[in-house]
Amino acid sequence: MSVLLLNASYEPLAVVSWKRAMTLILTGRAELVTQDDDRVLRSAGGTEFPFPDVVRLLRMVSFAGMRDPSGVAFSKAALRARDGGRCQVSDCDERGDTIDHLVPSSRGGDTSWHNCVLMCRVHNATKDDRTLDEMGWSLKQRPTVPSGRLVLASRRPEWDAWFATAGV
Ligand SMILES: [Zn+2]
Repeated sequence: MSVLLLNASYEPLAVVSWKRAMTLILTGRAELVTQDDDRVLRSAGGTEFPFPDVVRLLRMVSFAGMRDPSGVAFSKAALRARDGGRCQVSDCDERGDTIDHLVPSSRGGDTSWHNCVLMCRVHNATKDDRTLDEMGWSLKQRPTVPSGRLVLASRRPEWDAWFATAGV
């Protein structure tokens, strides 16, 4: 479940995972703006928290910082937006239902924008813990860190009001 992150000025900044949003709230860096009434988060101790839908940073992030690609949090939703929901192996047009680590985790590959791509189940299962070179496969495009604008393409209709205000 993705969460819309607003700047202190209420401008949309990024789409982040709910875990990232909760971390920002619990560490006092962001406040809850709207919640998802259909869900609730329960801690190990049984404390209930509202499920975040839109959160707002308490301190302004500069426009320069906003454009910094390293500021885009890695998430499955953002990866899906970057790769267009499709398997990234050349000439494959299947849906990218799984995330492949180009350098497999078992061989030290990290979960990052540069090491992860969407793959269809068949390609992912066939590749297993090997590399693209070992398979003789190539990708449609080099995996890069997406821009903030691209990630915002994964926005949900109920967030439209925030974008209208900001003129985005
Ligand atoms: Zn495929």
